[in-house]
Amino acid sequence: MKIVYIIVSLLLVFLIYDNFFSQHSRQTPSVTINSPTPTPTQPSNKIVEPVAEFKTRITKKFYGTYITPQNSPIKPEKFTGFHTAVDVEYEDIKGDVPVYSIDDGQVIYSGQVNGYGGFIAIQYPQYIGIYGHLQPKSLLPNKSVIKKGNVIGILGQAYSAETDGERKHLHFAILKSVKLDFRGYVQTESELSLWIDPLTLFP
Ligand SMILES: [Zn+2]
Repeated sequence: MKIVYIIVSLLLVFLIYDNFFSQHSRQTPSVTINSPTPTPTQPSNKIVEPVAEFKTRITKKFYGTYITPQNSPIKPEKFTGFHTAVDVEYEDIKGDVPVYSIDDGQVIYSGQVNGYGGFIAIQYPQYIGIYGHLQPKSLLPNKSVIKKGNVIGILGQAYSAETDGERKHLHFAILKSVKLDFRGYVQTESELSLWIDPLTLFP
């Protein structure tokens, strides 16, 4: 009988002890309630680059440069006027160069355009993004709703109909106007103000 009494006593002691600590541990979270509430992560509205190595590959034609067949870094040059875009150069890259949408938007034009070959324009909340010299067959169709970073096409093959005879490069423009304007060059500086320098979006 004595041994039973000891076992029961031990069991009771154990139960009381266990209950005390589990209650105690249940209380511990109340201590952390006073810690500062974590701030919810803000969605990033940073845009993404339209092609890999975007800034470092703009080496020949910048936004706003007045190009003539005489002063152009491209020989022979068929254009004259203020360049409305930046040209991103990929002549040294043999493989596919994907082009990305810089933001969430909707395709408002997709197809072949004189002077560009494959051409795609995307309506963004603040402006229209223009991407030229892409493979026409690689382009997302008109009216596609797209997310920032989605591939919208592949750069066209150099000196083919895909680029309208141009070298392998991306012509990338940002048009402030609500109306799509296909011009890659304009004849006056005041017309140039319909576009902005795309580099200002990538500080
Ligand atoms: Zn260009």
